[in-house]
Amino acid sequence: DPRRLANQIALVTGASSGIGVAVAVALAAHGASVVVNYGHDEEGANATVATIEAAGGTALAIKADVSKEDEVQAMFKQTIERFGTVHIVVANAGLQVDSPLIDMTLAQWQKVIDVNLTGQFLCLREGAREFIRRGEQPDISRATGKLICMSSVHEVIPWAGHVNYAASKGGIMQLMKSTAQELAPHKIRVNSIAPGAIATPINLSARDTPEEEKALLTLIPYNRVGDPADIGNLAAWLVSDEADYITGQTIFMDGGMTLYPGFADNG
Ligand code: NAD
Repeated sequence: DPRRLANQIALVTGASSGIGVAVAVALAAHGASVVVNYGHDEEGANATVATIEAAGGTALAIKADVSKEDEVQAMFKQTIERFGTVHIVVANAGLQVDSPLIDMTLAQWQKVIDVNLTGQFLCLREGAREFIRRGEQPDISRATGKLICMSSVHEVIPWAGHVNYAASKGGIMQLMKSTAQELAPHKIRVNSIAPGAIATPINLSARDTPEEEKALLTLIPYNRVGDPADIGNLAAWLVSDEADYITGQTIFMDGGMTLYPGFADNG
């Protein structure tokens, strides 16, 4: 059903760049009205809104640093004032601040935990509060609400030189599962998407030369870097009624990166 998200309101964090843009565009293409959150990149958020509107969709850009409680609460308030409620929250905003462990400052550690983990907690909590306040709308969606965490293959694959990032994604796994367990009686579904290597600005430095791209592909059995649209399409399906019986799961979308490709020719 091309309009499987008709009459639903979605909020996507970090939708000014990369995966968040593709998720916002995909949800809108399936009929949702979309709040395009951004932290600082107003131009990027406006471009996402323009793309959605050019395709006949509805979108609104809202600035909020997801690591700040008052800003996240103000964003949800503004969303509900404009659209009445929210049915879908995609906690996608995230960043990397890379450093070897022995050189990592507390500020570098804290920044990544604040945005990637606390930011997702705040958005899940505010989304769940609104879903429960509003109650069921069975003519619009079988679930009362849907929450998606943007995790990473690094919720299971260790990553030297990135202990803050890997810890944030490992934390998201239990944040998501525990939230799913707690909210299932409210008919709220909570799942994670764990991308492998997707072509976005976050990992440009790992694939901006042919040698680096080749090295990256040795980690990907399917032999291509992912496209943000791959993740957008999965998100649109995962929040639809077709996926109504899925909750508490991490869906890895990684071209086989979690298949331990180093073992393929090690027999
Ligand atoms: P990106 O850098 O293109 O986008 C990240 C977005 O988050 C940007 O819009 C940025 O402005 C926003 N953001 C950062 N800090 C913020 C804050 N405090 N408040 C609000 N917004 C903030 O990177 P991306 O690849 O699109 O990453 C999106 C998500 O996907 C992240 O959670 C990332 O960890 C995850 N991810 C990406 C990959 C990949 O290969 N690209 C792989 C696994 C997981």
